[in-house]
Amino acid sequence: MVEMHTARSRDVAVAAPIGMVSLAPNTWTEPFWIAAGQHQLVVQRCVSCGAVRHPPGPFCPTCRTQESEWMDLSGRATLYSFTVIRHALAPHLREYLPMVIAVVEPEEAPNARLVANLVEVDTQDVVIGMPLEVVWEDAGDGLAVYRFRPADETARA
Ligand code: ZN
Repeated sequence: MVEMHTARSRDVAVAAPIGMVSLAPNTWTEPFWIAAGQHQLVVQRCVSCGAVRHPPGPFCPTCRTQESEWMDLSGRATLYSFTVIRHALAPHLREYLPMVIAVVEPEEAPNARLVANLVEVDTQDVVIGMPLEVVWEDAGDGLAVYRFRPADETARA
């Protein structure tokens, strides 16, 4: 079979294999992963000064208050930074390239940074500041992993 080529070859980002994901929640991160299992992004927020804590922790980095609450996020975000991985660190990862590792700024919590794979995008179209939206991949046992894709449908590969 002859493969059809377009004028510009596609270089679509692939997510890390779900089997590579290993979660080890602790007291502070467990609520985040429970919400994720229900396809809801959340961040920990200080009840005293309102500062967002991410990753979650026992003390507010701003005012040292211990009490916190969980704030739902819409899943809309902006690309803050990224890197494209083109070299497989292990032979079994060759089929998961190229992989885009992104640092993402949630719309409602601009001081928080989430790290995730970008998917459904050509690596040549990834631009800092691009609008993103969350997508979920179920990992079994009530767990789910978040990825981000372009919010603009026309930017999706
Ligand atoms: Zn605080």
